[in-house]
Amino acid sequence: MQVSGPIIKTEGGVEIKQEPETTESVAETILRLVESGGLKKCICGLLFTDVTQFYLHKGVHVDGEPKKCSFCQTKFGSWYEFTTHFFDHKNK
Ligand SMILES: [Zn+2]
Ligand SMILES: [Zn+2]
Repeated sequence: MQVSGPIIKTEGGVEIKQEPETTESVAETILRLVESGGLKKCICGLLFTDVTQFYLHKGVHVDGEPKKCSFCQTKFGSWYEFTTHFFDHKNK
C-alpha cells in the first residue's frame, strides 16, 4: 500500500494527508478542510476529523467559561495549558 503525500500531525493529534503536488501550506490545508466540513475545529484550537469525537470533546468546555475544565473545574489562562490538561484526562 502506497502512502500518497506527507501526513501532517496537528496539535489535536489529527493526521492530515496532503496531496503530493500541493503548494498550499499546512495552515491552508487545515483551513480548507475546516471550511469544507472535513475537519472540525474547536474554540480551543484542537482539530477533529470525527464529528462524534468533536462533540464528545466539546463536553469538556464549560458554557461561558471555555477555559475551565468540566471534569475537575480547573481554570486555565491559556489554550495551550487547557489542551495539555485535557490530554492528561484522556490518557488516564
Ligand atoms: Zn475544545
Ligand atoms: Zn480537568
